[in-house]
Amino acid sequence: MQELLKRKKGLHRTVLIVDDDPIAREILGAMLGDMYTILYAPDGAAALEIITNEKLTLSLVLLDLHMPVLDGYGVLKMMRSDNELWRIPVIVLTSEKGAEVKSLQLGAADFITKPYEVPDVIRARVKHAIELAEDRIIIHETERDELTGLFNKEFFFEYGRRLDIQNGNMPMDAIVLEISRFHIFNELYGRNYGNLLLKKIGKNIHELVCQTGGLACRSSSSGFCIYIPHISDLQDKMPKLLSMIDEDLGSRKVCIRVGVYSDDGSGLDMDQRFSRAGIACQNIKDYYTTSFDIYNAELHSKELHSERLINDMDKALEEKQFRVYYQPKYNIRDTIPVFSSAEALVRWFHPVYGMISPDEFIALFEDNGLIRKLDRYVWNEAAAQIKRWKEELGFVIPVSVNVSRVDIFNPRLVEVLKEITEKNDLENGMLLLEITESAYADNAQQIINTVKTLREHGFKIEMDDFGSGYSSLNMLASLPIDALKLDMKFIKNICDNKKDYRLVGIMIEIARLLEVPVIAEGVETKEQLELLKKLGCDIIQGYYFSKPVPADDIAGLITPEKKGEAPC
Ligand code: C2E
Ligand code: CA
Ligand code: CA
Repeated sequence: MQELLKRKKGLHRTVLIVDDDPIAREILGAMLGDMYTILYAPDGAAALEIITNEKLTLSLVLLDLHMPVLDGYGVLKMMRSDNELWRIPVIVLTSEKGAEVKSLQLGAADFITKPYEVPDVIRARVKHAIELAEDRIIIHETERDELTGLFNKEFFFEYGRRLDIQNGNMPMDAIVLEISRFHIFNELYGRNYGNLLLKKIGKNIHELVCQTGGLACRSSSSGFCIYIPHISDLQDKMPKLLSMIDEDLGSRKVCIRVGVYSDDGSGLDMDQRFSRAGIACQNIKDYYTTSFDIYNAELHSKELHSERLINDMDKALEEKQFRVYYQPKYNIRDTIPVFSSAEALVRWFHPVYGMISPDEFIALFEDNGLIRKLDRYVWNEAAAQIKRWKEELGFVIPVSVNVSRVDIFNPRLVEVLKEITEKNDLENGMLLLEITESAYADNAQQIINTVKTLREHGFKIEMDDFGSGYSSLNMLASLPIDALKLDMKFIKNICDNKKDYRLVGIMIEIARLLEVPVIAEGVETKEQLELLKKLGCDIIQGYYFSKPVPADDIAGLITPEKKGEAPC
């Protein structure tokens, strides 16, 4: 592109004249020599060699059709099917009647008939062909994704909307593809591998669109969109289409999630179709096999429900419909478990839907950033509650609050938290911050920096859901944390699944190496508790002791041995 812009500014251009007749070459060379640097080739094979070597500097090829070794048609065909050479315009030189049509069909930009016309006409034709080609390349480069050659998102939607208008709203299907865990591939195997992967998928998508018609784009770092004329039995054809896209992706297990909106005649516009395909894509929870989901009535009502929750959120905050429950944590290092702290977990008492569990709205609020408001509300409530307990009970109950991955990007996070603790006369260490492990994998450096600053200000950090993310041992060693909280799914089967039992053992070992205490949550039975104790787990949270309860019920769960000791 840079190269092209330089040339556009009227700098230097090179033209290749290919003709087996030396006199014809000389005549053309003399006509154009004062405007361009001229290269010559006596036949098609020699021409191709020069074209390949000079592909970055060559502005035009003047090509005779009848030559030995390789004729002009052969050269033209090869250039048009080559990924890089197609950009170089070709003017065909011919004396043959009818050859013009064939050459234009093969992709020639123009033709000049022999014997040659007056030099001015030839010069004008050459200049015009070069300018047209350069403009076309600039347009191509601005509208395409450099890596895959597919449209970029902006032009894709622009052309798609035009396509809809031109075709009188012909039924179209929208497909959204997302490579699962793409950042992990980049991290594990390097950016080059990631790029190669994108290129391969881009190429397969390109071939698919060539077969079905329509257009496609790379819509994000790991996402693609495809807009194709409606296929009535798309659901049945999806496996075949998918196998076209994810075939040949190499031995490393790459999985693609695909959301589909199949046109049902309801007259949606392109944006709405893609928004629905996107919802179907997000609905796929399976990150480990290539799978697809089609937008349907059930997803539609789910979407309407989500929309309603988003709309209701501000009012719910004002009216205090969100209430914070607390679930106690017990220290099990001694024979008798000792109450040590509690986790704040939010519930929404909705006037229409009743009590809504956070599983229904946290991810939704994370998607649009609303979680920041809600989290701040919960932190305020939790800090005020610690203060209240302090006054009522005479000692501090440390409380852990959840810090969403979205909060990590708030540059004022530390100030916000400090304001909250100061307002309630608390030491920062009384508010424990739970950050889920997968957030670390999302943006390791950012989170490490934020967490370091938080710890410098005395906040304690617990890594939540440990085992579910993708922390490397290397990263863990450099992580500034104060406790590891094991993912519940390992605890669930710890009694009957040897693998899970051993995994928990390994995770506890890791915590030992890092010299931080281990918390197990989701403990429901005495057997689980005993096993965890045997493995050296420090702290337990779960229904075995108590479900999350309203703040007033916590006093009844505090053991007499409670010493008001170290948090976690
Ligand atoms: P989490 O942080 O991993 O919280 C633990 C979840 O496990 C809670 O579900 C808790 O009620 C549940 N749990 C605790 N012990 C047991 C047990 O023995 N058995 C079973 N089956 N479940 C148990 P909850 O309250 O529904 O919260 C779900 C998730 O929502 C939380 O997972 C957390 O990621 C998120 N969340 C909750 N409150 C907030 C909040 O204020 N802010 C943010 N950002 N996320 C929150
Ligand atoms: Ca948590
Ligand atoms: Ca957890």
